Amino acid sequence: MVVCLDKMSKRFLIAPSILSADFTRLGEQIAEVEAAGGEWIHIDVMDGHFVPNLTMGPFIVEACRRATKLPLNVHLMIEHPENLFEAFAKAGADHLIVHVETCPDVVSTLKMIKSLGCKAGVTLNPATPASRLEAALPLADIVLVLTVHPGYSGQDFIPEEVSKIAEIRRRLDEIGSPAWLEVDGGISIQTISQVREAGAEAFVAAKAVFGYPEGIAAGIQALKNKITD
Ligand code: ZN
Repeated sequence: MVVCLDKMSKRFLIAPSILSADFTRLGEQIAEVEAAGGEWIHIDVMDGHFVPNLTMGPFIVEACRRATKLPLNVHLMIEHPENLFEAFAKAGADHLIVHVETCPDVVSTLKMIKSLGCKAGVTLNPATPASRLEAALPLADIVLVLTVHPGYSGQDFIPEEVSKIAEIRRRLDEIGSPAWLEVDGGISIQTISQVREAGAEAFVAAKAVFGYPEGIAAGIQALKNKITD
């Protein structure tokens, strides 16, 4: 792949997902992320309905809030997310990201998030075409592309999603959107370069940070090295 560096956005950040953290030492691990230069803390909220797994809610967001000043990037894999916006905002979430599949009127859903003082994000499952985001793009502060089927940490990256990242990158540039293009699922030192080249700027990583053999700081540094290579 030929990469045009001039056109590529220069900004980037790493958003470690606590889904792979050691929850007996959550505060310490978040502090390690912060000290190592991780930029956002990604929190994967699952309800056992929209996705089969069940994970965490506002209570954990509130615990993360006490552990760090980093923005809390909350990914809501839940039905009727609007019912919990207020609880998540109160718990200290900075970003609330909803699935377009769960929002019959995604524009008003994003407005609702902004009215609570949070940044509004939108995301979509691998099976959902990028065109479903069209109405949401002008309003979104963050657009998240999933490169695995949501539900569990540690799944294999779906390479076909790289073209979706590029397609959304093009649309965001066409409309002059300042939104962050974030990518989530199977991001590692093996996969980060290709999603970067497709136009992603914010990289969620779970196992590649919390499960990195040499530790959290080394994991974050290895990902950043790949981007700046
Ligand atoms: Zn996520």
